[in-house]
Amino acid sequence: SLSSRSREDIQRVCASRDQRILVTGAAGFIGFHASLALRRQGYAVVGIDNFNPYYPVSLKLNREALLLDQYIPVVRADITDLKVIQGIFTACAFSHVLHLAAQPGVRYAMRHPFTYINSNIIGSTVMLEVLKSMDVKPMFVYASSSSVYGLSKRLPFSEGDRADTPASLYAATKRSQELLTHAYCNCFGISATGLRFFTVYGPWGRPDMAVMSFARNILIGRDIRVFLGPNNTTLSRDFTYIDDIVNGILRSIATAPSSQSGSVSHRIFNLGNSVVVNVLDMVKILENYLGRRARISFISRINGGEVLVTNANITLAASSLGYTPNTNISAGLQQFVKWFLKYTRSAEHDDMLRYIPD
Ligand code: NAD
Repeated sequence: SLSSRSREDIQRVCASRDQRILVTGAAGFIGFHASLALRRQGYAVVGIDNFNPYYPVSLKLNREALLLDQYIPVVRADITDLKVIQGIFTACAFSHVLHLAAQPGVRYAMRHPFTYINSNIIGSTVMLEVLKSMDVKPMFVYASSSSVYGLSKRLPFSEGDRADTPASLYAATKRSQELLTHAYCNCFGISATGLRFFTVYGPWGRPDMAVMSFARNILIGRDIRVFLGPNNTTLSRDFTYIDDIVNGILRSIATAPSSQSGSVSHRIFNLGNSVVVNVLDMVKILENYLGRRARISFISRINGGEVLVTNANITLAASSLGYTPNTNISAGLQQFVKWFLKYTRSAEHDDMLRYIPD
């Protein structure tokens, strides 16, 4: 159960504020940035994270240190632990929950399916179970993913499109999370907003994802592996800069879902940039900012459940939330590279250069 030290930390942080938010996955890439932004907006922020070693834990610990500087404690626990989650909600009456903790990554899921089932399905259900038992329910905002559109050929992806052809186990768990949330909203009067993020990148980003692992390999002169699809086409992504994603998160938290009588209070929005960028163009921009050429080795088959193209229709998020991404790929990668060079220059953080995604 929750340690008395954690309980005191939470109570101290929550005492003085009207708006109190629990952020799951706070030591992760998006959770870190969202927590800082919420704090700047005056929220009391409490984080929870299990600091799992899917990618170097040093990066999560460094994010945690910066959160602590802003009086954001991060409870070290697993969201599948019902007792701990109950303890956290007993320590503080949160007005909001931002649920970002998950096992991400499309390829890793091939060999570690139960990690995804545990964190993404069981962990999310634990969060919903605890909300279900509360009289005054906090507003629930959670991370979904563009991957739920799966093998859909219709572009751009719109929220009303069918999402029943997942290409990966990861996508299947994120879609399951959406469906479970919908049922909990219907049965127990929970209000939820699901956000389907599209390939997020930026400073303090994920070292397992293409942007950072390509930057790393270009820097140290190792080959980058670029997947080829049918007809030797390379993959394209709707790359979205972290500040734009955080903006969309803040706007979803600030706008309560409409509770028309008879309708389920569950909204889902795409949060993307709405611009398709081929990975080879992304590599060119990285080469330019890093001042080095990439050595590319083409892998002649997409495996691990990657889809060829993603593209977000963001008109719903624009009209309902006022969401307008305003960072193009070039400006975003410039910010990323600036951070990446500074971070990896420190000998303390050179584990990031040695890291090879599983
Ligand atoms: P991340 O891995 O950096 O952050 C997730 C954090 O959750 C990690 O710090 C991890 O330690 C923690 N965590 C995982 N399982 C946990 C558990 N069982 N209990 C407690 N903590 C746990 O990933 P991210 O990119 O910041 O992703 C955040 C959310 O956004 C995830 O739900 C992910 O599925 C979703 N998402 C991300 C992207 C992207 O491009 N980054 C795209 C689509 C969706």
